[in-house]
Amino acid sequence: MAYTDDRSSWFEGQGLWQHVPAEQWQDWTWQLKNRLTSGEDLERYMTLTPEEKRGVAFAGRKLAMSITPYFFNLIDRNDPNCPIRKQLIPREGEMFISNEEQLDSLGEDEHSPVPGIVHRYPDRVLFLVTDRCAAYCRYCTRSRLVSNAQDYNFHPEYEQGLRYIESHPEVRDVLLSGGDPLLLSDRKLEHLLARLREIPHVEFIRIGSRIPVFLPQRITPKLCEIFKKYGPIWMSIHVNHPKEATAELRDACERLAFAGVPLGNQSVLLSGVNDDPETMKALVHRLLRMRVRPYYIYQMDLITGGAHFKVDVRKGIEIIRALRGHTTGYAVPQYVIDAPGGGGKVPINPDYLEQITDDEVVFRNYEGKQFRYPLHSTGLKRAVEDPAALIDAS
Ligand SMILES: *Cc1c(COP(=O)(O)O)cnc(C)c1O
Ligand code: SF4
Repeated sequence: MAYTDDRSSWFEGQGLWQHVPAEQWQDWTWQLKNRLTSGEDLERYMTLTPEEKRGVAFAGRKLAMSITPYFFNLIDRNDPNCPIRKQLIPREGEMFISNEEQLDSLGEDEHSPVPGIVHRYPDRVLFLVTDRCAAYCRYCTRSRLVSNAQDYNFHPEYEQGLRYIESHPEVRDVLLSGGDPLLLSDRKLEHLLARLREIPHVEFIRIGSRIPVFLPQRITPKLCEIFKKYGPIWMSIHVNHPKEATAELRDACERLAFAGVPLGNQSVLLSGVNDDPETMKALVHRLLRMRVRPYYIYQMDLITGGAHFKVDVRKGIEIIRALRGHTTGYAVPQYVIDAPGGGGKVPINPDYLEQITDDEVVFRNYEGKQFRYPLHSTGLKRAVEDPAALIDAS
């Protein structure tokens, strides 16, 4: 699956929805109201494969299906292997569960002192503020609670969460996530940010959101004003494939960046979507051009129904090896496995180090050439015979 990026073009426009007035198309509430949520909605525009039909029929019991018109335009409707299609349209593979998979594969519920707060690391918390997203990713780590398809009964409790953070002075970093926090109204989001800013020990506020990707129309000037007012607010967006980097996303990132929001990207390594070096390289280059710093590539969590997306970890390592040294350092994300059961994110790196002895480090560069770095200074002697002469001369 070799992907070649057309570096000079950015997808844009209304695609299948030419007949819709531009003001409506650009209105994020119109996009939400007109999401494609059923097999019939999809089949109005495309032919589903038999395995997609079975997947769509099952979706309601696992994770709702929902695709914004804007994002649906990015699907190649004639290609069953389209990398955008695989992320959003359920397939039969979701109905199979392996022995290794779990609903809460990261043990988040065990690390949750109050509903919506996951406190795994000493100094930072994950604050789940909604169970809804603009569209649903079929490999979602939180499908147990997101979209409420599984009777999990997650009800975000802002007050309890805020009180927990207020009473834990060790929490210096709050990560708003969900679901997608940017689906909250401006008013609710502003309230949350204002409350967090009032807590003296909270130094760092960030938002994890796929809204810029699914619904760039949501990044309104008014929303950007809120980020400016309560900033610095950092944001991690979630782009998996270079085709997602459209003119609309680029412009939304520009609005965020101009409002002072530093942007990072998190990708999930997915079989048949982005599990090859050419695709990832095209993606990270597009990200830099949109002012987004690649942050993490995740090995997919062991979530139920995820087997058909699974990629060999050696493939992930090969991708990082193909980036490091071969392209801009800023373009190279950190590849991590979120330790099953709740050990946190652990970096997985190609091995450049061959040996460390008491005397030297032996390592290889990106081309595979071996180098040595001596650890001690031997035979130390003066660079000039008479230091006093240097002082006189100056
Ligand atoms: C990912 C995650 C964080 C943030 O981790 P960083 O490495 O700082 O980005 C915090 N809490 C939980 C529970 C997480 O899963
Ligand atoms: S946007 Fe995030 S939380 Fe929502 S479905 Fe996708 S991965 Fe899950």
